[in-house]
Amino acid sequence: MSTTDEGSEPRASTSVDAAWLERELAAAGGTAVQAEFLLNPMAICKMVYRDGQPVDWLHLYVNPVWQRQSRAGPYPGKLASELFPGIQQRDPEVLQIFARVAAGGAPERFTRFLHSIGDWFDVQAYSPARGYLVAVFDVVSERIERERRVKEMEQRLSLAQSISRSGIWDWDIPTGELAWTPEMIRLLGLDPASTTPSFDTWRSRLHPQDIEVAEERINTAVHERTPLFNEYRVVWPDGQVRWLRAYGNTLYDDAGAPQRMLGLCVDVTDIKHLSQQAADAQAASLAKSTFLATMSHELRTPLNSIIGFATLLLERVPGEINDEQARQLAIVRRSGQQLLGLISEILDIARVESGRMTLELAPVRLRPLLCEQYEAARPLTAERGVVLHAPECDDALHVRADARRLSQVVCNLLGNAAKFTDEGSIRVTARAHDASVFIDVEDSGIGIAPEELQRIFIPFRRSDDPRSAARIGTGLGLSISRSLMLAMGGELTVDSQLGRGSTFRVTLPAVAEPAAPAD
Ligand code: ADP
Repeated sequence: MSTTDEGSEPRASTSVDAAWLERELAAAGGTAVQAEFLLNPMAICKMVYRDGQPVDWLHLYVNPVWQRQSRAGPYPGKLASELFPGIQQRDPEVLQIFARVAAGGAPERFTRFLHSIGDWFDVQAYSPARGYLVAVFDVVSERIERERRVKEMEQRLSLAQSISRSGIWDWDIPTGELAWTPEMIRLLGLDPASTTPSFDTWRSRLHPQDIEVAEERINTAVHERTPLFNEYRVVWPDGQVRWLRAYGNTLYDDAGAPQRMLGLCVDVTDIKHLSQQAADAQAASLAKSTFLATMSHELRTPLNSIIGFATLLLERVPGEINDEQARQLAIVRRSGQQLLGLISEILDIARVESGRMTLELAPVRLRPLLCEQYEAARPLTAERGVVLHAPECDDALHVRADARRLSQVVCNLLGNAAKFTDEGSIRVTARAHDASVFIDVEDSGIGIAPEELQRIFIPFRRSDDPRSAARIGTGLGLSISRSLMLAMGGELTVDSQLGRGSTFRVTLPAVAEPAAPAD
C-alpha cells in the first residue's frame, strides 16, 4: 500500500529510512526518549491524509511496553491499518479522534472497546506538533470486566431487593453515618433521589408508638452482642402505615468496640395483615364452634325427652291410644330422631372445628366392625332392588383407629351409598396396601360430577345435581367423616363417574400384629 503524508513525498510504508524517522521524531517533539521508561504503552504517530482527509496514521515510535503487549510490531513506519487490519472500518471513531487531536485540537481521553484488537482501552492523545500525535494507552479490559460484574451484581441485588420489598442499611457506629440502598429509602416512603440517609430521617418516619422500642432493640443488640430483630411501623408521607422487619448484625474491632451494624429491612405489611386476618378468622370460627357446641348440647336434652315420651305413649304405657294417634306419635318420634341426628352432626362438626374432638386410637379388628355396619344398613336397601353385598374383608386385618368414630364414618358412607343408589349394588371391601388399609365403599348410584368431587367435603355443601338435591340430607356427613379420618391419621377420598357410581375410600394405618378387638 502506498500513502501520502501531507507535505512530504509519497513513501512505501514498509521501508523505513532511519534519517527520515529521526527527522520525523524530531518534528514530533522528541518525546520518544522519555517514553522508553513509561510504564504505559505509548506510540508517536503521524496522521496520514488523502485528498486532505485523514485516512490512517503512521507509527513513528512505539515504546517497549506497547511492543510487548500488542504483539503487533515492529512498528516504525507501519500504518495502523497494516498493524491492526480493519481498524478504520471497525473502530472508525479512533481515526476521527486522532485526526481532531493531530489537527491541533485539545488533548482527548476515551475508553473504548477496540474491535480490531479485541480489548478495552483507555486512551489519552495529545498533539506535540501539528499533524503528529502521541497516544498513551491503558489496557483496561480487566477493570471494565470487573466493573461490569459489579454492575451486574448491583442490578441483581437491586432486583432482589425490590421484588422482596427489602432494603439494606449499613451503620458506621463511631461516626454515626448511615448508608441505605435506594430500596431501603423507598421502604420509608421516601424518594432516593432527594433523601440523605440519617438516623434522624429514619426516626422521623417511625410510628410514634414504636420509636422507643425500636431504638431500644438496636441498643440491646449492639451492647449484648446479639443479632438484631426489630419490627416497627413507619408512616409514609402520604399517611400510609407500613410494617417493617429489620435484621442486623454488629461488627466489632479487636478491642471489642462496636464498629458497624449491617442489616436488612423487609416490608412485612401484607404478612402482618394476613396473620391478623387469620387470627380474626380463627377467633370467629372458635366462637361459632363454641356456640354451636353449647346450643347442640342444650337442644339434645329436651329432644331426648320428646322422643322418650313419644315412645312411652306409643308403647301404651300411660294408657290406650287409637291408630290415628299412634300414627301421628310415630311421626313425632321419627322427626325427633332426625332432628337428634342433625344435632349430633352439628355437635361433631363444632367439636372437630374447635379442636375438641377427642379420639381413642387403638388397634381395631376391621371385619366385625364392617359386618356390624353392613347389618345396620341392610334395611336401607331392602325392597329397593339394590343389592348390598356382605363385606369382603380378611379376618386378620387390623387398623389403628377410634372404633366408634370409624363405625360412624362407615355408617355414613353406607348410608350415602344406599341413599344415592336406585339400582345395582353396593360393595364394601377392605384390603391391605403397604402400611395402610383401604376400605372401599363402592356403589352403582347416581355418581358425582368432577367439579363437585372436592366440594362435597365442605360442611353443608351438597351436590347441585337435582337427583341428589331431591334426597334428604344436611351436607355434613362427609365433612365430619373426612375430619375424623384426618384426625385418626387417615384419609377419605372419592372417585366417581356421573351416572356410573362412586367409590369412597377410607385409608388408615395398618396395625401389624392382631390385637384385642376394640369393638
Ligand atoms: P348429605 O348426604 O347429608 O347430603 P354428605 O356430606 O354425606 O351429606 O354428602 C354431601 C353430598 O355428597 C351429598 O349431598 C351428595 O350430593 C354427595 N354424595 C355423597 N355420597 C354420595 C354417593 N355415594 N353418591 C353420589 N353422591 C354422593
